[in-house]
Amino acid sequence: MKLVDLHRQYMSIKKPIDAAIKRIVNSTDFILGKDVEDLERAIAKYCHVPYAVGLNSGTDALLFALRALGIKRGDEVITTPFTFIATAEMIALEGARPVFADIDPATFNIDPAEIEKHITKRTKAIIPVHLYGQPAAMPAIMKIARKHKLPVIEDAAQAIGAKIANRPVCTFGEIGCLSFFPAKNLGCYGDGGMLLTRDKKIADRVRMMLNHGSRIRYHHEFIGDSSRLDNLQAAILNAKLPYLNVWNKKRAAVARLYNSLLKPPVITPYVPKRFTSVFQQYTIRIPNRTAVRKLLEKIGIPSAIHYPIPLHLQPAIKKLKLGYRKGDFPHSEKASGEVLSLPMYPEITKTEIITVARTINQAVHV
Ligand SMILES: *Cc1c(COP(=O)(O)O)cnc(C)c1O
Repeated sequence: MKLVDLHRQYMSIKKPIDAAIKRIVNSTDFILGKDVEDLERAIAKYCHVPYAVGLNSGTDALLFALRALGIKRGDEVITTPFTFIATAEMIALEGARPVFADIDPATFNIDPAEIEKHITKRTKAIIPVHLYGQPAAMPAIMKIARKHKLPVIEDAAQAIGAKIANRPVCTFGEIGCLSFFPAKNLGCYGDGGMLLTRDKKIADRVRMMLNHGSRIRYHHEFIGDSSRLDNLQAAILNAKLPYLNVWNKKRAAVARLYNSLLKPPVITPYVPKRFTSVFQQYTIRIPNRTAVRKLLEKIGIPSAIHYPIPLHLQPAIKKLKLGYRKGDFPHSEKASGEVLSLPMYPEITKTEIITVARTINQAVHV
């Protein structure tokens, strides 16, 4: 068994994928081609956002979002300590200060009330993360952001297609960031990402940033970077996008089956009313995680910890000397010690789910 079986997915869509790869290789249209344009249009439509700009990773989408908003040295950006490092890392890479706000322990997402406590004169933006594919509390977060006139960047790397009351993520904040990392819900066969925005000026600026500060070849208006989305990856994503809704529905069905099988003391994911998670991860909480993992490993059931160390305690963040200590974010620290992600992908079978759930129900009692 695998945590994520990408090969099963490939086998299920081999024909359109192979055709897409062959088409690009034959055309030799590798850089900034028509597939990138088509994908940008298709993802913009899918996410209900007017502008989408393809980039070579979700990490760069976050970096360019911060740059486009003019975040600079000395600025503060509020985010969650319970996420993948990229979110806080890009804030620091811009020279700004990541300011953490603890999570709501029920959803694992940033707690809006905690955000407000950390706003200062130097706060310049807020980055909520839609962790595990579940939207952060965007209505409450946007209310606080508007009150303090702060732009919001949604880190939707794990959450393409997730919704609150039928409104997709990336439509709430000024900018939304997507990742096409292979294991994400819409993954390519390498690295890829996208920045979504309602603001044409931001979209135009980012489009130049990703291509050496130019809009006309060899005419460079500012110092940019090289972060184009490969046309080959875009072609693969164009071939996969028509399946995304079905895959997300299958993930939800897998989650429902896990929910119905797992018994206390296992705590299954909590999805607030009117929220739609796309279950990038199916993550439970258990008290005796180390013992359970050992048992799972012994019989060949993979599991993962997202994430074992909250960001304020990561060596890389400690080196920034932000003054954080153990105990500062108790909900994130507790979650880091208890969460366990189970095998989750659209192609996992009912039998496999039952095996995993049964094993965990037994393991938590040993
Ligand atoms: C995957 C991920 C990223 C980074 O995306 P890449 O495409 O791997 O650069 C950023 N934030 C979160 C929450 C992620 O899960």
